[in-house]
Amino acid sequence: MANDAIAAIATPPGRGGIGVVRVSGPGLEPTVRALAGRAVRSRQATRADFLDATGTVIDQGLILYFPAPHSYTGEDVLELHGHGGPVVLNLLLQRCLELGARLAEPGEFTKRAFLNDKIDLAQAEGVADLIDAATAQAARCAMRSLQGDFSRRIEALVDALTELRIFVEATLDFPDEEVEFLESGKVRERLAGIRTQLAAIIAASQQGQLLRDGIHIVLTGQPNVGKSSLLNALAGTERAIVTEIPGTTRDLIRETISLNGVPLHVIDTAGLREPRDPVEKIGIERTWQAVAAADLVLWVSDLTRPETCVPDPALGARTMAGVPQLHVLNKGDLAGVEPSVRPKDGMVEVAVSAKSGAGLDLLKSAMLAAAGWDVANEGAFMARERHLQALQLAREHVTQAAGQSQVELVAEELKLAQRALGSITGEVTADDLLGKIFSHFCIGK
Ligand code: GDP
Repeated sequence: MANDAIAAIATPPGRGGIGVVRVSGPGLEPTVRALAGRAVRSRQATRADFLDATGTVIDQGLILYFPAPHSYTGEDVLELHGHGGPVVLNLLLQRCLELGARLAEPGEFTKRAFLNDKIDLAQAEGVADLIDAATAQAARCAMRSLQGDFSRRIEALVDALTELRIFVEATLDFPDEEVEFLESGKVRERLAGIRTQLAAIIAASQQGQLLRDGIHIVLTGQPNVGKSSLLNALAGTERAIVTEIPGTTRDLIRETISLNGVPLHVIDTAGLREPRDPVEKIGIERTWQAVAAADLVLWVSDLTRPETCVPDPALGARTMAGVPQLHVLNKGDLAGVEPSVRPKDGMVEVAVSAKSGAGLDLLKSAMLAAAGWDVANEGAFMARERHLQALQLAREHVTQAAGQSQVELVAEELKLAQRALGSITGEVTADDLLGKIFSHFCIGK
């Protein structure tokens, strides 16, 4: 338990109907008394005048007091719901600091909740992901993590590993029976079961990672093929500048759109051609940088201009290995080509019209499929890169364990797999990792 109290304005900066100042720490009862001028009932909203040191009223509002351990952080928690103006909230915050609290660091309330065993680390991360969710699906997914669905799946695996470890380690005392024990098949069978479960969680986590981080998509192709028009059509807004003069889009234009709840970060780029001036040259350089960092590249061609439909060898060379490409054949309305999607030369080709909107649905599905989104998947977990790494590490150790013929080595691999999984929920966590995770939270959470 921490021995100091922390305080922060928990609502966002700016003007609002209500603003909340939150305090957490040991022994907050005197703080409550000083602020409200009297004791208040626990866990009940009480209307009160919030008083400064001289007894002058700073604001009027509701005071809520949650004595430890039944609070968000597990410590005494005090919430002052006042009027949502920056000056009055700051006066209230200053008053709390005067009464002994210090300013909270980002995420410090949630960090204390974790340290006091109110939530585990994956749940704490779910809190931040819920606040940061860019789409409704991402929010639902984060809520599932916050409620502990993800943690429960991890814990079930840790339990299975623990049981197996106890069994394996018990055999170490009877060396004569080692071989028979491993050959008996039971251990390998159980390991195979754990691996199957790990694979399912990894798949669900990869979906969650897409929901959380989105997909970075780059639109490329020669000038005037309709890249900006396509971005506008996909976004449903006039975000990019569309003109008939080739080379108009010189800088990168970014737009985030939501498809099935997956945030797509689409970048429209300068048309790829021999630059005519230094500014265009810079634009094209930026295009190549964006291509190198993309998760998916949309190569756009103009069906009425066959020369734009010839693959650019430089595009293939600059795209990271393994990054999928979609070939978008645009202006189907002018060329009399019906919307379609088909695989061709190791790529998927989609015929559309950015102008009429024909084929955009096909394109959207192809984009999601190319990025690895499983439309049928409902149970995604809001996973982070660190979760996926831990899951993959656990899978490696389980695979290693299955291949060992010495009981001691099996036991060791099982221990390492269990440790990897434990890092997800924070059973075993280094301090610097905690610092890194919570520093990305907002103040007051
Ligand atoms: P970019 O240079 O590749 O970004 O191309 P733009 O989006 O600026 O489009 C160039 C021109 O082609 C504009 O006059 C657009 O109105 C036109 N255009 C784009 N897509 C289509 C389409 O699907 N059909 C037709 N008929 N015109 C299009």
